Amino acid sequence: MMKKNINQKNISLIEYYKMANLDIIISDDPIARYKKEKNTNSVFNKKEKLNILKKKIENIENCNLKKTANKMVFSDGNMNSKIMFIGEGPGAQEDRIGLPFVGDAGKLLDKMMEAINLNRNKVYISNVVNYRPPSNRKPTEEEIERYLPFLKLHIEIIKPRILVLLGSTALQAISRKEKIISKVRGKWFKSKIGECEPEIIVTFHPAYLIRQPEQKKKSWNDLKLIRDKIKILKL
Ligand code: URA
Repeated sequence: MMKKNINQKNISLIEYYKMANLDIIISDDPIARYKKEKNTNSVFNKKEKLNILKKKIENIENCNLKKTANKMVFSDGNMNSKIMFIGEGPGAQEDRIGLPFVGDAGKLLDKMMEAINLNRNKVYISNVVNYRPPSNRKPTEEEIERYLPFLKLHIEIIKPRILVLLGSTALQAISRKEKIISKVRGKWFKSKIGECEPEIIVTFHPAYLIRQPEQKKKSWNDLKLIRDKIKILKL
């Protein structure tokens, strides 16, 4: 009986590595070999998967962003949330602290979330690229492509029911077809990301709203759509 469990565990481990294309990570942590898994599909729980992903991002080679950045910015919020926000990439404050959306744009994002009864304990937040582009420039297409497999894996691990894309870089990364934000913002669409198929909405990036406050009205409409969807999906 014990032998069968071990075999099943080994098989799912191999499946997970195939799915995630992850290298074996060597760790000194003791392994709970006979721990009963809650989710029989995977030997790793969410936290472990996120740690593996983090290590994988830390090991990215030949990335210029890493050469100038101080800290990797992975995520913030509740990993068990069904609502995930994706920004563009870390700015100066985020690079210093190591958390997404902690500068001026982050303060506005907090206010936007608060307006629909959300906060960082209720959502999960990450970015398209995990290292700060120098002088806060937009990530290049090549950089977006380099980080996209990790972003997709991140989404697959979190498995959000609602995915909020903040601005055109997040739109460009997730939706290969449409790049013009004004054409798609405020409309729901679905897209398969691995085994996950969240309801997706694009809205303005808070940094853009700081520069163009007259767009806040449209942004508020988008936020109300998110609030309604949360109700419909009973999240
Ligand atoms: N802008 C982003 O897109 N992400 C951050 O984390 C901060 C600012």
